[in-house]
Amino acid sequence: MTLPDDDRVIDPDAPQYNATLVRRVDHTEDLATFWVRYDDEPVPFEPGQYMTTGVFADGKLWQRPYSVASPPRESRDGGYEFYVRLVPIIRFTTLLWRLPLGHRMRMIGPKGKFLLEPDDRRTHLFISTGTGIAPFMSMMRETLAEGRPRKTVILHGCSYVDELGYRAELEAWVRDGTYPVTYVPTISRPDDPRNAGWAGRHGRAEHVVREVCRDLRLRPDRTVVYICGNPDMILNAEAVLMDGGFPEFHVKKELYWPKGKVVPAVTG
Ligand SMILES: Cc1cc2nc3c(=O)[nH]c(=O)nc-3n(C[C@H](O)[C@H](O)[C@H](O)COP(=O)(O)OP(=O)(O)OC[C@H]3O[C@@H](n4cnc5c(N)ncnc54)[C@H](O)[C@@H]3O)c2cc1C
Repeated sequence: MTLPDDDRVIDPDAPQYNATLVRRVDHTEDLATFWVRYDDEPVPFEPGQYMTTGVFADGKLWQRPYSVASPPRESRDGGYEFYVRLVPIIRFTTLLWRLPLGHRMRMIGPKGKFLLEPDDRRTHLFISTGTGIAPFMSMMRETLAEGRPRKTVILHGCSYVDELGYRAELEAWVRDGTYPVTYVPTISRPDDPRNAGWAGRHGRAEHVVREVCRDLRLRPDRTVVYICGNPDMILNAEAVLMDGGFPEFHVKKELYWPKGKVVPAVTG
């Protein structure tokens, strides 16, 4: 990926900073996981909520909301985990990618109402593309740690196999039965050389959701659906579900940007 030159000067020590970038794992050239820890006491949050984090550059605070992928119980030691895509325009993510470990940041929150219902015994269908899987990881990790995992189907759509974040963790849960989850990854560009050897499902998440519901016999009256990420995918998937008899109040949505706002180089 060719990034535009970003020569903004990042302020290493603004008085508003209250947290630190403590860990980072890169998955591809434009997908990475970041852990940000409060300098003082962590702020409680519920799985599905987001934090807003940022840094000052050229005297301006650049900050964005990110769903927390980690469970609340890890905030104190591990920090808040964020699964982020680099957007190749000079805004916040081009700054985030330049930050060295140990750099201080501003973090506020939590916010958001994309939450699990208490004691919901319905099957949970989690649908996401790209980084939209993040809140579902927090929900599943927390309910697992509580010893109350919920029957779940997680449909995750990506352009490339190497973008299937959290795949190893989800496959391990399936393999050893730790979590009652059916993991359904789907790849939207099966013919791309980067996906050579992929024998799994292909097609965009919103295009396969109908067959997934049919194959797994997900009944509208016994399923609650959560959809997160790309707004076009969310609205298309929702339309398919409505058409399949899912009542509107059984579908919850978290849009990562307003519908219609697209950066040409970004895919999912
Ligand atoms: C509630 C909420 C939670 C969010 N959680 C996450 C998260 O966990 N991980 C994450 O990577 N982003 C998440 N986002 C998006 C994030 O806040 C930023 O918009 C994104 O990181 C890009 O920041 P930017 O300043 O570089 O560009 P921005 O000016 O914020 O966005 C520019 C454009 O980039 C595209 N874009 C934005 N986010 C993404 C994305 N994730 N994948 C592909 N294209 C994108 C859109 O077309 C958008 O209009 C979330 C947004 C909201 C509203």
